[in-house]
Amino acid sequence: MEIVVVGAGVSGLTCAVTLAEAGHRVEVVASELSRDTVSARAAAIWYPYLAEPRHRILEWSRRTREVLNELADQAVDGAAGCGVSRVRMLEVFDRRPEGDPWWRPAVEDLRPARPDELPEGAAYGHRVEVPLADVTLYLPYLEERLRRSGATLRRLTAPLESLADVAAPGRLVVNCSGLGAGPMCDDDRLYPVRGQVAHIEPPGAGPARVWDQGPGRLTYVLPRTRDWVLGGTAEAHRADLEPQPETTEAILRRARRLAPEVAGCVVRDVVVGLRPARDQVRLERQETPCGPVVHDYGHGGAGFTLSWGCAEEVRLLVQEGSVGR
Ligand SMILES: Cc1cc2nc3c(=O)[nH]c(=O)nc-3n(C[C@H](O)[C@H](O)[C@H](O)COP(=O)(O)OP(=O)(O)OC[C@H]3O[C@@H](n4cnc5c(N)ncnc54)[C@H](O)[C@@H]3O)c2cc1C
Repeated sequence: MEIVVVGAGVSGLTCAVTLAEAGHRVEVVASELSRDTVSARAAAIWYPYLAEPRHRILEWSRRTREVLNELADQAVDGAAGCGVSRVRMLEVFDRRPEGDPWWRPAVEDLRPARPDELPEGAAYGHRVEVPLADVTLYLPYLEERLRRSGATLRRLTAPLESLADVAAPGRLVVNCSGLGAGPMCDDDRLYPVRGQVAHIEPPGAGPARVWDQGPGRLTYVLPRTRDWVLGGTAEAHRADLEPQPETTEAILRRARRLAPEVAGCVVRDVVVGLRPARDQVRLERQETPCGPVVHDYGHGGAGFTLSWGCAEEVRLLVQEGSVGR
């Protein structure tokens, strides 16, 4: 079947690779190539965050973890090839949470942290191994894998006004347009959640650390090969893209509590991205007057975490024509 994938962020590229490697003729069209998308601003650690509904998130994230771990293991020099590596993640809390995290069934190796592994002031923590993608390597890797599978990628000179603009008889459209789906599909359930992160000179080696201090208050320190990512913020319905210096200061202050070694670090750059949040990820097939559309958008703060699991379900919806749950 001839397929047009709209969107060249992590969702569109992963769907396109999955479909092209399954033998479909695939063209990706997008108003921004991957380096200019929200995906290029992500911290890109495996962590189910700001995405619903949980029963579907669990399965998509479990499957994605499996695929990303395989990619990490194939990389010759750790993170060098495709940019994916396995990292030890320490998640800490101000108060001991009741029970395991809700995403516990998606991982097999979670264990409580020892008191000496916790930063000062943290009441409880657990450790788990998760994949981390360096987006500066991983998105180009996906583009290259897409080309090798015979698919094509085209940058549009202007955003599409409607998915009907790329529909044609005998063609199926896969809609991975992130926040762009709002105006294109008249979807008012989609909204931005602004996130700001700082990239710093790497102060050495260390685990990935995440501090959950309640809704909208997630601090993280993620060591990548060539830099570390410090975050973050989550401001719903805010869409300005200019980094705020006082927010950067606050991020650095919170990050120092979590990882004292980042004190005095050199900040290389600060970026802002708008997470495409929705009350539920939209992954379903729709028969429209212009032909079939499979929607895959609204992944909130978990687009990388869900990418392969969602792409495999998209492939099933394309091939079987079954309707999403
Ligand atoms: C600061 C920050 C940190 C994050 N950290 C993580 C993390 O650690 N782990 C994780 O899993 N996720 C994380 N996320 C979330 C993740 O980045 C997103 O969920 C993901 O990038 C969404 O990918 P996407 O491909 O669906 O959309 P996008 O990356 O936004 O791509 C959308 C594509 O659609 C195209 N498009 C849109 N509208 C149109 C149109 N009208 N016509 C043509 N093309 C169109 C765009 O040009 C683009 O190519 C983070 C996000 C932010 C902002």
